[in-house]
Amino acid sequence: MKIAKVELYQVDLPYSGGVYLLSGGREYTSFDASIVRIVTDDGIDGWGESTPFGSSYIAAHALGTRAGIAEIAPHLLGRDPRQVDRINDTMDQALVGHNHAKTALDIACWDVFGKSVNLPVCELLGGSTGIRMPTISSIYAGDPEHMRARVADHRARGYMGHSVKVGALDSEGGPALDAERIAASLADRQPGEYFIVDANGGLIPETALRMLRMLPAGLDFVLEAPCATWRETFSLRQRCDVPIIIDELAQQDCDISQIVAQDLADGIGLKISKAGGLTHGRRHRDICVAAGLTVSVQDTVGSTIAFAGIAHLGATVPQRYLRCILDCRDMVTLETADFDAPITDGGVLTPMSPGLGITVKRDALSDPVATWR
Ligand SMILES: [Mg+2]
Repeated sequence: MKIAKVELYQVDLPYSGGVYLLSGGREYTSFDASIVRIVTDDGIDGWGESTPFGSSYIAAHALGTRAGIAEIAPHLLGRDPRQVDRINDTMDQALVGHNHAKTALDIACWDVFGKSVNLPVCELLGGSTGIRMPTISSIYAGDPEHMRARVADHRARGYMGHSVKVGALDSEGGPALDAERIAASLADRQPGEYFIVDANGGLIPETALRMLRMLPAGLDFVLEAPCATWRETFSLRQRCDVPIIIDELAQQDCDISQIVAQDLADGIGLKISKAGGLTHGRRHRDICVAAGLTVSVQDTVGSTIAFAGIAHLGATVPQRYLRCILDCRDMVTLETADFDAPITDGGVLTPMSPGLGITVKRDALSDPVATWR
């Protein structure tokens, strides 16, 4: 089996909540998605998506995603898409770094692989645990009582996890406002709920410590991505007793190894496009399980195609280590595919149809912006 054609599509994914506010004054209203279709010489096709969270989130942006795919795609023609590790070798030889560009191609290869052997991707990744995966909401930073209301709204829709965004600038209210946001968001906490306080790298050790000291005692949460650099994170880690989760800093395989080697954190946010696809995501999962780190399987953002990748990788994380998965479908208004994975009874079950198990809505994509054959 050989890759005979690669098609690249571009769609805009409007944010479903209006304006998404992140630490450092960052705002997002729409996300620029790159979607790839790989077609093999025997007529099997596979889909993958990579949608950066704007250009101010991590070192990834949509124009770069598509430029990277253009750089890599010609090298994949004639290659066997089922050899996912070798496909990644080829991508790494064609382009250093740029995990976000490699992600859509890697996931499309896994989709082809699954369809070619009539198995769902999660079975190829090690096998589904068969356990419903709790989903996590994404509560953007805002007025504390408004954040509390949005947590309640997601709770009513079956979300068991809540990612509460903090990282107020001093001019916005600083650590005192962040402490209020945390207290309000956790005020109605229900048994079994899991709270992440996520600064997306927006704090420094000084502001993080001040924020933590202003909180009432006994609140149950983990602190995700408090700081933007390893040095700051290491400093904070040594001086606070709140579990630390690494997100934006954990991108390459060696980042996960470093977290383990230096005991920098208690878990990671495993965003598939940050890792470079399911092949590297699988490796990050295994390092975390071996080291006793928890995993939340997510992506930077994305439509249903990206969510299918999340659901398949999430299904393979042992329950003890899986904290939650991100239902990014809920964050955007455009539906790019049908995927039979509703949130019911507190979580999502990955469907057992071949490949990713999605039916792409071709009408939503219009024509490819580039094709290689
Ligand atoms: Mg995060």
